[in-house]
Amino acid sequence: MRPEVQSQLTPFLQTVAQASHAVLLLDYDGTLAPFHIRRDQAYPYPGVALLLQEIVRNARTRVIVITGRDAEDVLPLLNVHPRPEIWGVHGLQRLNTDGSMEMPQLDERTLNGLSDADRWLGYQQLRHTAEFKAGSIAVHWRGLSENDAENLQARVLLGWRPIAEHNGLNLLEFDGGVEIRAFEADKGDAVRAFLDEIGPNTPVAYLGDDNTDEAAFRAMRGRIKQGRGISVLVRPIWRQTAAQFWLKPPDELLDFLGLWWKTCAEHGAMDGGAAAAVKA
Ligand SMILES: [Mg+2]
Repeated sequence: MRPEVQSQLTPFLQTVAQASHAVLLLDYDGTLAPFHIRRDQAYPYPGVALLLQEIVRNARTRVIVITGRDAEDVLPLLNVHPRPEIWGVHGLQRLNTDGSMEMPQLDERTLNGLSDADRWLGYQQLRHTAEFKAGSIAVHWRGLSENDAENLQARVLLGWRPIAEHNGLNLLEFDGGVEIRAFEADKGDAVRAFLDEIGPNTPVAYLGDDNTDEAAFRAMRGRIKQGRGISVLVRPIWRQTAAQFWLKPPDELLDFLGLWWKTCAEHGAMDGGAAAAVKA
């Protein structure tokens, strides 16, 4: 890790060391795992799963993977035991460590909009490009030529925009695709709700790479001001971002996770009762 980044991270890691517990919020694709044309083969960078597993086992950190995918999709790719929490569909869906799933009911207007979006894909013979999730449909163009990708993007935006507007859905462009989804499915909303749930004192780090993570970086600002949070852009090339720090994967990401683990391991094991309290 670049020494200046490490020295900037040190005060926060000291806060983590002094706290009884902490939270790691981690995006999956592009952050923990490099992109792969076949999404079912997007495994984490070598070494990442092992470090995460140590952090989960140490039990001082509540690890939450927050992804645009359906939560169940990430489990076999991540392959961490015991498993961390996984929040799918940008935090709309919560898959707990005991395997239980929490998913809010979607209203009729949202469901109508999603079925219109699906029908439009059918008419256009584009269903094969789509990923269907609870509360969301995503069209992917990773792996297509630049020309084909631009054409597909333009077509889908043109077809879906009126459907989104009419039904109060969100249209969101991300790295390699576009998604139409329930309005409340936003990582910023998910992070805000979560920070309210856990109260003000727990240190929280958020790591992400994509446009969809920017809302979460912004949602972290209050916590960062209180000296209890950091936001980190994980990306091979820096871009304009609301995040405080930039780490270049995989090496600097591995350095960061290694530092986190060391910090937790060196500052005493936490008992199961305290680990349970993190969840309360
Ligand atoms: Mg990502």
